Amino acid sequence: MKPQLIFLGAPGSGKGTQAKILASKFDYNHISTGDLLRLEVNRGSEVGIEVSKILKEGGLVSDDKVLQLVKKNCDLTNNKYIFDGFPRNLNQAIALEEKILKDNPFYIIYFHIDMDLLLDRLENRLSCSSCGMIFNKKTSPPKVERICDNCGSSIDIRNDDKKEVAQVRFKLFESSIYPILDYYKQKDNFFRLDASEDIEVLAGKVYEVINK
Ligand code: AMP
Repeated sequence: MKPQLIFLGAPGSGKGTQAKILASKFDYNHISTGDLLRLEVNRGSEVGIEVSKILKEGGLVSDDKVLQLVKKNCDLTNNKYIFDGFPRNLNQAIALEEKILKDNPFYIIYFHIDMDLLLDRLENRLSCSSCGMIFNKKTSPPKVERICDNCGSSIDIRNDDKKEVAQVRFKLFESSIYPILDYYKQKDNFFRLDASEDIEVLAGKVYEVINK
């Protein structure tokens, strides 16, 4: 039986792209807390209004709000999930295990990559605000300029991928990832992959991990 999956990595490490590939090929549901939060903002819901400024500035939404949102959007009874962008700190990692995963077996995959490459990737990243599909102007451009291959909506650089906000997000990532890695890295369900590899090569490595 395939495990539940936790994808860890900096903004731009490619974990969202890998989650989408895996979800389309196998029986996985992709749950991205960033996508869920952006959806709330676009809907103008109560939560959306509360978190919109935080997202704009690249800060972190409170653990309680994120946990509620994840709980509301997943049911592990008969389903497999890839958790992308969650956990973002140690508190969330513990809550994910204790309140959501419970007895479900799970693997943690950490997509490791150097910061220089990340900045370049984010500067070239285009995202679809309707379906969340991700493109890269240089390495994986859309077939028609600025139009999503998947749903036909227009695509653009996300406001929080722009340099100033991206730097705030990187700093936050750097300060929160090490406690999470310390917590997970001794476990035999923890895997570290080199996320500077090409998308297909990396996808192959992800398949190897989940087929272990
Ligand atoms: P992402 O799409 O994962 O880069 O997330 C976009 C933004 O959503 C982040 O910069 C945070 O403001 C917020 N966010 C996403 N996931 C979380 C989380 N697990 N905890 C707190 N804030 C989050």
